Amino acid sequence: MKFLLNRIKRINNTTFLFNCNKFHTSHKQDAIAPILWVIIKPISKLSSILIGRSIRKIINSPNNLHKKEALVNHFKLRKKLYLFGISSLGIGCYANYLSHIEETPITHRKRFILFNTEHFLEIEDIEKKDMLNLYKDKILPISNEKTQRTYQVAKRLFMANKTMPEVKDIDWKLTVIDADLVNAHAFPSGEVFVYSGLLDFVDNDDELAFVIAHEMAHAILQHTAETMSQLRLLDIFSIGLSFLFWGFLPADWSAILMESLSNQFHKYYYELPYSRKLEKEADLVGMQLAARACFDIRYSPQFWTKMKISSKEEIPEFLSTHPSNDTRALDLESLVPEALKIRQDCKCYELPKTIKQSKIILSN
Ligand SMILES: [Zn+2]
Repeated sequence: MKFLLNRIKRINNTTFLFNCNKFHTSHKQDAIAPILWVIIKPISKLSSILIGRSIRKIINSPNNLHKKEALVNHFKLRKKLYLFGISSLGIGCYANYLSHIEETPITHRKRFILFNTEHFLEIEDIEKKDMLNLYKDKILPISNEKTQRTYQVAKRLFMANKTMPEVKDIDWKLTVIDADLVNAHAFPSGEVFVYSGLLDFVDNDDELAFVIAHEMAHAILQHTAETMSQLRLLDIFSIGLSFLFWGFLPADWSAILMESLSNQFHKYYYELPYSRKLEKEADLVGMQLAARACFDIRYSPQFWTKMKISSKEEIPEFLSTHPSNDTRALDLESLVPEALKIRQDCKCYELPKTIKQSKIILSN
């Protein structure tokens, strides 16, 4: 593995490459690749439904009394064997689960993680190709003023944080797309896409820096790998539940109802809150990255207040993968004192007493 630090260069006339590394991630060989799971998951789900349904038919059919009796006798005779099998499977699954508990870099949070970034390169390539196809005439050249501005901000973030292995070990790339979207996006490999609508929306580079730093934080913390690991767990759990629903509930309609209820339960009580938790973590780490690069992080809550004012309609937080604009502004406000301390420790230039109020906020 070779490190070519500080070599910030162009890899073509639209993309900046900030670093040149191979991924430095531990190998997790025992996980079924996400792309393969796309095929295995529906087959497993369908099989568990069909097997469960066949068992129910045997149990419920009056014509199958002898089969039912044979089935009951079969389980009675081998009760200990089945109990042993189920307990061993449970212990094995739990041990496997524990062996995949890791700490997040920087925030040191314990999490279950099955994959690493390399598992997603194929999926990422497909998504990137789609994205580049969609915006093929909209990618701004490096010489463009907007690309240059974004590049200067991203470079400052990278240079100030490159001593951290988590930042150093990623091949950061930057592309700016001419689209009226107030957004940015980072792929797990470290390729960051910024939309020009964001550059038009921010009042200054401090706000822009926070948004880019937030996206960098997602890549540093391997949030995609973590989310996919959590979803894999949920998938396995859901395949097991399908077997129980279709095997032991009285009719098809009750199994369908329970399937639908359990899907909603997973979504609203687990998936969405988990996604919002990761967004908060990316905000926290993004603040730290921006503070180390001496940006005025006090503008980050203001950015989200502006987003709130500018959003015509915002879906309720509990239905969203992201915290509401209000929540983000408040959470970031609470992180400002700690981030200011980081700036101080990094011997950054002194900030003015107050920040400039945005025109959007003043005119509201
Ligand atoms: Zn995010």
